[in-house]
Amino acid sequence: MPQVLGYAASEAGALLAPATLLRRELRSNDVAVRINYCGVCHSDLHQTRNDWHNTVFPCVPGHEIVGEVTDVGSAVTKFKPGELVAIGCLVDSCLKCPRCEKGMEQFCEEYPTPTYNGRDRLTGELTNGGYSETIVSREEFVLRLPEGLDPERAGPLLCAGITTWSPLRHWNAGPGKRVAIAGLGGLGHMAVKLAVALGANVTVITTSPAKVADAIALGAHEVLVSTDADAMAKAKNRFDILIDTIPVSHDVTPYLSLTALEGAMVIVGAIDMLPAIHTGSLLMGRKTLAGSIIGGIAETQELLDFCAAKGVLPDCETIAIQDINQAFERMERSDVKYRFVIDMSTLAD
Ligand code: NAP
Ligand code: ZN
Ligand code: ZN
Repeated sequence: MPQVLGYAASEAGALLAPATLLRRELRSNDVAVRINYCGVCHSDLHQTRNDWHNTVFPCVPGHEIVGEVTDVGSAVTKFKPGELVAIGCLVDSCLKCPRCEKGMEQFCEEYPTPTYNGRDRLTGELTNGGYSETIVSREEFVLRLPEGLDPERAGPLLCAGITTWSPLRHWNAGPGKRVAIAGLGGLGHMAVKLAVALGANVTVITTSPAKVADAIALGAHEVLVSTDADAMAKAKNRFDILIDTIPVSHDVTPYLSLTALEGAMVIVGAIDMLPAIHTGSLLMGRKTLAGSIIGGIAETQELLDFCAAKGVLPDCETIAIQDINQAFERMERSDVKYRFVIDMSTLAD
């Protein structure tokens, strides 16, 4: 099996460091990709710290991957060497359960195979993510990078983008809808751009007064600073859709009170226990408290095509892989505008 370079955490909370890993020999339905860029998601930080108590070490994170096809298996029909492609959070699923058949591979009844910290469905080997030279995936989970989408900035669409696009589309964000986005980070800033591009009226809810001007520059129509009790009280019952990207457990009641009559508050950030809520905050207004995780493959392609057509791209800071630990630390302090992207050619430095 080919040995390639990557960056891995050797144990919970360890700094990421250079490592070698194995990529499998091509199966007939596989696509081999040389990785050019990989976005840095807050989930990469959660996973390498074992915040979800399920990490297998060494852990090579990264699921916002853009690269070039270098080889394809004999049965591959959709891709050929030289093409630019993208790989997101999933590299496999059963593809035959009712959920997969509906294009919702992320909810596969047999559990989908995540791009990292998953188990290969045939061999049981640990999957390794995009902080590496190359990746191999079955062709159904490889996406076309549309022309006109800057490869250096497209990566974050594969997780931050689809994670917010999927609920925005499901709950019909568009003209006449008031959408609120809680947490202006990687996911949040994509949610703002996408909801604006869909024609919705968009408000950012932030803990950071320093981000108010940025939120408006990103296209938001209004900004609420969540510590401003008066402003929060005035915004009661206002939003048809509220997407909550906050990465830690928190009281959702203040956000539910901002949700409109028959509106939906959708949690995409915290995967955690929440403080108890009083059901009155749901009953009084027939409100929905929902959750959503990434998106399906066809839906992700739809997002890439939409972003190419509308010129929607994340705001990125490109870094060398050697700066990844500092980037994790800065992301935790919300000191990034608004997504780090690793230039994977720096692996050779
Ligand atoms: P991020 O770039 O760090 O952004 C998170 C934002 O949340 C911060 O910029 C900050 O915005 C706000 N925030 C941070 N700590 C907070 C706190 N203690 N209380 C209130 N607000 C806080 O992270 P991300 O990459 O967008 O990811 C966000 C979360 O989504 C992570 O937990 C990640 O694991 C999860 N995620 C879920 C999915 C899914 O499929 N559901 C996919 C990807 C990521 P302000 O400064 O504006 O307050
Ligand atoms: Zn992610
Ligand atoms: Zn399935």
